[in-house]
Formats: sequence, C-alpha cells, structure tokens
Amino acid sequence: MDLSERIKIITGSIPADVNLVAVSKTRSIEEILKVYEADIRDFGENKVQELIEKHDNLMDKNIRWHLIGHLQRNKVKYIVDKVHLIHSLDSVRLLEEIEKQFSLKNKIAKVLIQINIGREESKSGILEEDLINLINEVEKCSYVKVKGLMTIIPKGDEESSRIYFKKMKSIYEDLKTKSYNNVKMTYLSMGMTNDYKVAIEEGANIIRVGEGIFGKRIYDI
Ligand SMILES: *Cc1c(COP(=O)(O)O)cnc(C)c1O
Repeated sequence: MDLSERIKIITGSIPADVNLVAVSKTRSIEEILKVYEADIRDFGENKVQELIEKHDNLMDKNIRWHLIGHLQRNKVKYIVDKVHLIHSLDSVRLLEEIEKQFSLKNKIAKVLIQINIGREESKSGILEEDLINLINEVEKCSYVKVKGLMTIIPKGDEESSRIYFKKMKSIYEDLKTKSYNNVKMTYLSMGMTNDYKVAIEEGANIIRVGEGIFGKRIYDI
C-alpha cells in the first residue's frame, strides 16, 4: 500500500466531524508534502525543534501545526507564532509560561489539557484530581484558551483502551456542563494508529495518526 492509499483508507473510515492530525515526527519535508497533496492540513510534532524546522520550511503552505509532545517551559517562546494547537498543557508552571510568552506577542494560545488517564509514571499529563486546580489557574489567564482534553493511554488491548477512552469522555462531558471563561470543551484528542477506531467510537474528535499514514517509523539510533 502506498501513502495515498493509506490516507484514503483512514479519511474514508472516519466521520466528517473527526479531525485527523497526521503525526509527522521523524518524517522528511518530502514525505509531509506528499501527505499535504492528499489534502491533509493538520500535522503533529512531538518535539519543538522539529516543529520549528518543518514550520519554517513549509511557510508557504497552509499547514496547522500541532504540538503533541511534552512541552518544556524554556521552549514555549519559540513556538508562539508557529503552533496552531498545543495538546500538552500539563502543569500550572507551564501554563504560566505560556501565558507570559503569548502575552508578550499579544497572541492567544489554544491548548488542550493532557490527562495522564492511566496514571503511568513514564507519561506526562496531569492526574485527574489536579484538573480543577489547573482549570482555576487557566481562568486567571488572559492569553490562554483551553479547547479541550488530550490523552495518551497505556498500551493494552481493545477492552482496556475502551475503558480509558470512556473515562476521558466522561471527564470531557462533565466539564462541558460547567461554565468557564477560558475553558470550553470543543476537542477530545485521543487515538493513534492502532486504536483510533475505538477512540472515535468512544467520542474522540481529534485523532493523531502517524504510522497509519506515513508507514512504519524508523528512528535513527
Ligand atoms: C507518535 C505519536 C502519535 C502517533 O502514533 P502512531 O502510532 O504512529 O499513530 C500520536 N500521539 C503522540 C503524542 C505521539 O507522540
């Protein structure tokens, strides 16, 4: 199967109200352009440096760049003008830095709160019980808008994935009933190549697919 066939399969199998983010980490500009030619406009990177390089290389294209990996506070300043949506707000300290750097350029940061729904030591994201505190801090901001939630679930079979996705959806729906100034539940970002179908069944409206589009990732060692 080639790239355009893989894209057709995925776009053909997701409902119109689900947004596909093509995860282009480790991929070349050439590969990204092939996906772009298949009418994909949302691309996700997990490293700031890589996002910046690709953004700058593809300035003339109409691409929305998503930062999907952990964001270090000292790197926020580099992405203010380049990122469309930050999927990985996971602490009050990061929030304060985003508020500061975006205010300096008079820009609004659109972010998702990343929840470590599987409570894994190895994963970033906040724990469910810390969510309300973070939201209260977001309410004090003038340059940050929370647009929804994101998660990376623990590896597992379909049954266990479904449980985590359901937990996320329930948090999302609960927040939807509350009224905030800077927090609005519009996006639920969950599901990757191996589980995006289950994620959509459980309410995801942003899926982040890498290998399912680009083929197997080969990391330089
Ligand atoms: C790499 C990555 C993905 C995509 O994973 P695939 O298995 O290639 O679809 C999605 N989300 C995040 C945060 C990632 O780092």
